[in-house]
Amino acid sequence: MIHLFRTWNRCAARIRQAEQIALLFDFDGTLSPIASRPEIPRLSPSHRKMLQALSQDSQVAIGIISGRGLRDLRRRIGIRGLYYAGNHGLELEGPNLRFLHPAAAAARPVLVRIARELRKRLTGIFGVLVEDKTLSLSFHYRRVPRARHSTVQDIFMQTVSPYLKRGEIRVTRGKMVLEVRPAVQWDKGSAVKLIRREIERSRSPRKILLCYLGDDETDEAAFAALRANDLAVFVGGRKPSSAASYYLRDQKEVKEFLKRCRHLRTAMAA
Ligand SMILES: [Mg+2]
Repeated sequence: MIHLFRTWNRCAARIRQAEQIALLFDFDGTLSPIASRPEIPRLSPSHRKMLQALSQDSQVAIGIISGRGLRDLRRRIGIRGLYYAGNHGLELEGPNLRFLHPAAAAARPVLVRIARELRKRLTGIFGVLVEDKTLSLSFHYRRVPRARHSTVQDIFMQTVSPYLKRGEIRVTRGKMVLEVRPAVQWDKGSAVKLIRREIERSRSPRKILLCYLGDDETDEAAFAALRANDLAVFVGGRKPSSAASYYLRDQKEVKEFLKRCRHLRTAMAA
């Protein structure tokens, strides 16, 4: 695993050679810092400006792939013409693209029941938050005192285990969050493949380069969906267990990456 800017010349060459580039990003922890509560993170004006400028380039496609609900995600980014994938790709929208996973919508009644049970069992425990994202649930415990983390995780597992056993849901883990998802094999990697197919269909490029930047466990599926010539970039420092070949330290370096891409593209257009 190597720092992306240490080998930037080689990456820049690949960006120059590609006929079409797709820059794909996770949101929380990648484009914006992780906050104590999920409603806080916003895109900074400088990140927005850079993404907006790049999105004007007909040879650059931009996608945001998040565990958040689609509407929530769109509202936070607020740039037209991007691909937006919510609920880890169960719902996806973009230029001429609209996708909703059929099995995911069918799981809705089960998710409603689990959310209700979780809230009931967690009454009176400070700091837990059950976020209903329509097609999935997030169980946040970032604000729970560390000494109680195992208690709240136990309550979560006890609540979901009958549903897990019946194969009605699956559970994934992120940074201080546990997620209940429909029992379908669908993840951020599936979203990446869908976006690649759509770009190939609509723009039929000879050479397409995908870059994916993400910071969490659920982004590993996206890294794994990339091909050998694509760029998989883990955000958050060196992490040898990641499937990504490159890393950046934080959101500031992600901004620097956007800036460098922008410079490259402007230089090419001149
Ligand atoms: Mg993230």
